[in-house]
Parts: sequence; C-alpha cells; structure tokens
Amino acid sequence: MAGYLDLFSLQGKTALVTGARTGIGQAISFGLAAAGAHVLLLGHRDNLDETKAKIEEVGGSYETVLIDLSEIKQIREKLQPVLEKHQIDILVNNAGVIYREPAVDYNEQEWMRVIDVNLHSVFILSQEIGKGMVERGSGKIINIASLLSFQGGVFVPAYTASKHAVAGLTKSLANEWAGKGVQVNAIAPGYIETNNTEAIRNDENRSKSILERIPAGRWGRPEDLAGAAVFLASPASDYVSGHVLVVDGGWMGR
Ligand code: NAP
Repeated sequence: MAGYLDLFSLQGKTALVTGARTGIGQAISFGLAAAGAHVLLLGHRDNLDETKAKIEEVGGSYETVLIDLSEIKQIREKLQPVLEKHQIDILVNNAGVIYREPAVDYNEQEWMRVIDVNLHSVFILSQEIGKGMVERGSGKIINIASLLSFQGGVFVPAYTASKHAVAGLTKSLANEWAGKGVQVNAIAPGYIETNNTEAIRNDENRSKSILERIPAGRWGRPEDLAGAAVFLASPASDYVSGHVLVVDGGWMGR
C-alpha cells in the first residue's frame, strides 16, 4: 500500500484557480497547494494577500495573475504571457458573480456581466488552456457549478441560467476531451458561507428556511470544497468525466 495516497498528490503540477482572493476559490487554492501544486492565483485586483498567506503557512508555492474576467475581449490576450511561461495542468473555473432582482425589472447590464464572468469566461479559459492539455494528452478542468445548475433559485435568473450552462458546458467538453486524456468535471457547492451568500444569510427568514433543509445541520464552509477539488485535480479521478459533484451537506437528497 506504500505510496497509494500518491494518487491524490499534485506534486509537480501547475494549477490556475480563478477568483482565488476569497471564499471557495481561496480554499481550493489552499487545498491544491497543500497537495503539492504550484498555484496561479487569478484575481482582478491585486489584493490576494490573504490567500497568499494561507498558502505560505503550508509552504506551498504560488504566483498571481491579474485578469478581469468581465472584460471578455481582453482575456485571451492577457492569458498569452501566462501560457508562454507555464504549462497549466489543472484549471479551476471558480470566479463567479451573482445579481439579485425580480425578473420583470432585471437589469440587462447586470445580466451580461453575470453571463460573461460565470459562463463566457469559463469557455474562453477552457478553450485556451484546454488546447495545450489536449495536445499533451493530459489535464484536469474543474468548473464551479451550483445547486442552481439543477434548481431555479429566486430573483437570480442570470445566475441560474449561467450555472445551468456551466453544467452543460462541463459535459460537452468532457465528451470531446475524455478520449484525449483531459477530464472535465464540475463541483456544485451547496449553501456556503462566503460573500456570494451574504445577502441571504443576512435575511433571517431565508437563512432559517435554508438551514432547515440542510441535513448536515449547518451551512457549508469554503474548506468543505477543497477535498473534492483535490480529488478532481488528481490522478485518483482519471476515469471520472463529465460529472457534477454535489457538495451540499445533503440538500439535493432531501
Ligand atoms: P466570493 O467570495 O464572492 O468569490 C467570488 C470570487 O470571484 C472573488 O474572489 C471575486 O474577486 C472573483 N471575481 C468576481 N468577479 C471577477 C472578475 N470580473 N474577474 C476575476 N475574478 C472575479 O463567493 P464564492 O461563494 O466563493 O464564489 C465562488 C464560486 O462558487 C462562484 O462561481 C459561485 O457562483 C460559486 N458558488 C457559491 C456558492 C455559495 O453558497 N457560496 C454556492 C454555489 C456556487 P473579488 O472579491 O476581488 O471581486
């Protein structure tokens, strides 16, 4: 059995994680670094100090990459120097935004921003970074989906549309690339304590009704997602393809 856990090792691998400044992206960056990966922390402002400090605590290695994923037309150009410098083995498309408003009043600019960051940028990064993976015959892409990849949500039509599409894109790319050694999968987090859910956590009634439905009896924490990401980034998941792994304390089973 010696060395069996090497199946989960990311030693020698380079990962790029989007939205690495906070929440789930920060926890996943930490998890991948702790498993041995060199992590490229992608943010849109140079304020990733908290994530860097956590990675330093475990002696992990990182670099930062600054790209605004809402500026769709600039993504490919800004990614080029990164691709020239690094062979990216693992891509985690985590960055995401949410905008809440009743559908009849829904702001169209916000609709576009949500679709651009949550979906359009995911395709562009997957295409640009996936190309190299397909050429080399190996790679892992992990998209962060949502329970709203399955359900409708309330007052979040753009977010729900984007996250349903992320699940579809995951399966579409997985079908094309599984035979070429590239595994594309997604993680669908349940209700996690991050900036993304601050508004509903501050709404006492909403927060209470959500908690009542979670069999685990608590909201999720960002670090609850790290193990699933390490698994999907590692050789342990080499035969897992096109899967949306729900990490939700049991919500979907209820
Ligand atoms: P979060 O703390 O708000 O994280 C979102 C991250 O995306 C932030 O680091 C943010 O950076 C970054 N980001 C936003 N706009 C960007 C842009 N234009 N370019 C580059 N980066 C950008 O919330 P989170 O919950 O961890 O969200 C991470 C992912 O999990 C999202 O895709 C979200 O939809 C998904 N998710 C969350 C939950 C939940 O319950 N929390 C449930 C299901 C799915 P700044 O903070 O610097 O703007």
